[in-house]
Amino acid sequence: MSRSELSWRQQGACNGLDPGVFFPDSEDAAEEAKCICAECPVRINCLEYALATREKDGVWGGATDKERRRIIRHRRRLA
Ligand code: SF4
Repeated sequence: MSRSELSWRQQGACNGLDPGVFFPDSEDAAEEAKCICAECPVRINCLEYALATREKDGVWGGATDKERRRIIRHRRRLA
């Protein structure tokens, strides 16, 4: 991981919180993580990182894996 990637992570609203919150068992259980992400100052950095690296698990930038796949499909259609 590069230094610039680390810098935004350290500003994340999730920094120091239980990581388990961000790896829910189901889409429905993702609400707590999404609420935290909604207030996060680096939400966009986080989401773009997860989209670029095709993260398969967890909530990143307020989006679950299913939602991130939807965003990728939508962007492909627009390209
Ligand atoms: S958007 Fe969510 S998962 Fe990403 S850094 Fe912020 S709080 Fe953490």
